[in-house]
Amino acid sequence: FSRRQFIKGTVATAALGVGATAGIGLLAPEASLGTDNPAQTATKGTKFVTTICEQCVWRCGVIAKVENGVVKMLEGNPNHPNNLGKLCPRGNAAIETMYSPDRIKFPLIRAGARGSGLWRRASWDEALSYTAEQMKKIKDKYGAKAMMFNSTDNLSQPFFEILLKAFGTPNYGTQRSLCFNSMTTAFLYTYGTPQPGTDYSQCKYMIFTGRNLAEGISNNETQEMIEMVAKGVKVVVLDPRFSKTAAKATEWLPVRPGTDSAFFLAMIHVIVAEKLYDEVFVNKYTQGFEDLVTEVKEYTPEWAEKKCEIAATTIQRIAREFAAAAPAAIAHPNWRTSNFVNSFQTERAIAVLNALMGNWAQPGGLIPDQEMSTAKLGVLSHPPFPQAQGIRLDGVPWQYPLVPLAYGVIQTMRDNILSGKPYEAKGWLISRQNPVLSVPERQKTINALMKLDFVAVIDIQASDTAYYADVILPESYYLERYDGLIPIKNKIFIRQPVIEPLYDTKSSLMIYKELADKLGLGEFLPYKDEMDLLSQQLKPFPVSLEDLKRAGYYEVENLKEDHSKDFEFQTSSGKIEISSSIMAQMGKKAVPTWNEPPRPKEDQYYLLTGKTAQHTQMFTQNNRWLLEVFPVNRAWLHTSVAKKIGVKTDDDVVLESEVGKVTIKAYVTEGIRPDCIFMVGGFGHVSKGLKSSYGLGASDSALHKTVTDPISGGSALSETFVKVSKA
Ligand code: SF4
Repeated sequence: FSRRQFIKGTVATAALGVGATAGIGLLAPEASLGTDNPAQTATKGTKFVTTICEQCVWRCGVIAKVENGVVKMLEGNPNHPNNLGKLCPRGNAAIETMYSPDRIKFPLIRAGARGSGLWRRASWDEALSYTAEQMKKIKDKYGAKAMMFNSTDNLSQPFFEILLKAFGTPNYGTQRSLCFNSMTTAFLYTYGTPQPGTDYSQCKYMIFTGRNLAEGISNNETQEMIEMVAKGVKVVVLDPRFSKTAAKATEWLPVRPGTDSAFFLAMIHVIVAEKLYDEVFVNKYTQGFEDLVTEVKEYTPEWAEKKCEIAATTIQRIAREFAAAAPAAIAHPNWRTSNFVNSFQTERAIAVLNALMGNWAQPGGLIPDQEMSTAKLGVLSHPPFPQAQGIRLDGVPWQYPLVPLAYGVIQTMRDNILSGKPYEAKGWLISRQNPVLSVPERQKTINALMKLDFVAVIDIQASDTAYYADVILPESYYLERYDGLIPIKNKIFIRQPVIEPLYDTKSSLMIYKELADKLGLGEFLPYKDEMDLLSQQLKPFPVSLEDLKRAGYYEVENLKEDHSKDFEFQTSSGKIEISSSIMAQMGKKAVPTWNEPPRPKEDQYYLLTGKTAQHTQMFTQNNRWLLEVFPVNRAWLHTSVAKKIGVKTDDDVVLESEVGKVTIKAYVTEGIRPDCIFMVGGFGHVSKGLKSSYGLGASDSALHKTVTDPISGGSALSETFVKVSKA
């Protein structure tokens, strides 16, 4: 059975899975799948199994080739919309993560001082009983609120959330405020939807700000961006660094950090002054335009040039070119923009600029979120959750009234542990998250972990946070386990094991379930095993779990939204809110506005951090295949700075911020503004359990200050300034 036949087979399966009429099973019956069905090829010791990648959060479709129980190769599933048949370097290297000698192979209970790296082997029963006992002790003595729960974006996250709600704590930390709060909050306040999509395929003009798709890979989007470039579409990148996306762009604008909003406000100024906006769309679908006209009067291109250091004539030209390409023109919603307290305003200006172009639901414009809601999957039936007692330790909404409740402000949670105010957390259950390396001020996170009564971590390897745990509950790797089902657009995909777990590990679905049982909360997660849970999720659809497993996905008809009708926006006015009613109610400036960001002192530099295509945040640096292609992070220094301090590439330099100091190798380049220093995040691990990456490079979390945007809760990472010297 050749690979070509196999690919053909999966396409045939896809075709069979589509288009039957309601009331009849939409997935082809087994006989119709025929012998070309890849899942039926488990002959002579070789089989192909479809599943979903988890080397990052993008959820690409994978086809695993398994020979005699060993995973030999991973390929992209051509039927999956998130990757269109391709895997990125990290996805390809997943085999190494699974077979890594650094996997945690059985449950561990701490046997030495916390952080000493000494544990003993425990049975699952002992480890889960001990965890439940400690959690109950904290609940009985201090209340459920004294337990914090943390998890990051993943397919089993909804079940983790059920566990914490059943436990009764209000304290939940996600990754959101470290990542995209400014974008999602700004779009939520403007369009009533946190993250519209972008139609790359027909776009004629794209502006990226803080979205480095060539290195921060979102598989299908990265492919679409590259296709756009190949077609000759105009791509403008604002970035203080010559990133790989900037290298692909038609125009790179090395903007001064934190001043992107000046650029966009000036673009709006030109578009308004020259009446280049879509008047019909603006009149019909937006509110607050007149307030905007008043606000942007002063934001001339000449004014912006002094702020962002992009020539006024360039801003003017880009505004005119952009408007000429509308509605097939997008100022990309981005991801992290520039990581300043004013990033919310930058994102608001971007959201409003798109609205002025009338590009909503137009070919080449912004597209409403077409993802099928997980709510349409079958839901678990469980008793009502207890009322969570106590205010949230992340400060939402009492300290941060404008931050949407679901987003949170993870970086503030440690302050409460250390100060004991407004009350002190005593325990922390962390699943698949590594706050020691991801949250600013690493030492503060470690101090908080050291102060707690109890810390339990669920992970596949001894992350830097797991290193400080009292119990490590080892999760099976994604190629060994099931997770909750995932609806993407109008298809439901399944993550399923391609081999049996190599070690004494469990899926997080079962870890949460068994922990809930031990806590006396089993009724909130009412499933016997993963198959039972997935069958309950699949209940509303006329397809069996076995068929779903065989085909890899199930296509649901008639779930695509009809955008041909008049648009309705989920804002309080029902329109796109150029003037935000929420901001107005809170007594804030309701239209996008300029907030002056702080600047480094004369002997300091902006510290910029970002991604590389070969690693995922804090997760893959211990993967030996990926280390081979990206072995260490270095500090990008402009040639003039390197000359001043007398260093060349690969010399050691010391970076020092207000909160920490690291030694790191220099990378001397013209590709960065002279007032900036850049480093890729995720290196500088402190866990000795990560034997391949321990001690390599430096962590940006050791340098980052904790600065929070009061509106979105976003962590303003780039408001950290550093001094640099030769080591
Ligand atoms: Fe895996 Fe890469 Fe897709 Fe992320 S983008 S899910 S790492 S293949």
